[in-house]
Amino acid sequence: MTAGRGRPARFDEAAQQKFLAAVAQGMRVGDAARLVGVDPQAPRYRARQDVAFAEAFADAKARGKERAPHSESHYVNHGCRAPECRTAAAKARAARRGAAKREESEEDGGVEPVELSSVPGSLTALSLRSPSSPPGRVAA
Ligand SMILES: [Zn+2]
Repeated sequence: MTAGRGRPARFDEAAQQKFLAAVAQGMRVGDAARLVGVDPQAPRYRARQDVAFAEAFADAKARGKERAPHSESHYVNHGCRAPECRTAAAKARAARRGAAKREESEEDGGVEPVELSSVPGSLTALSLRSPSSPPGRVAA
């Protein structure tokens, strides 16, 4: 065992079992590591040194992936690419963009310069103001 510079990670048998159980239930690896009080990197290091643990770890991750509900987190943390997860991830991204945009426009005093051109109604208003045929008299 090498002594790391950080806190001593006691990733003993009991901690490993608890960690693997948590991961198998769909918990993120980093969260599961924190749950048992070890460095988030500890499981990866351990897996490199311990083939049996590596196999159990891979198995737990596979089971966790099956168990976790389809969601943005499933997409990001479990690498799931099921349609449900793609949709959830896309929605979450769009929501974040929307929120960021709102914040930006608030900082700008609520001005949204690009919005008008995408509103179909404004086209009508524009064409009414610049008619192609002169209003009123009809040329004889
Ligand atoms: Zn999924």
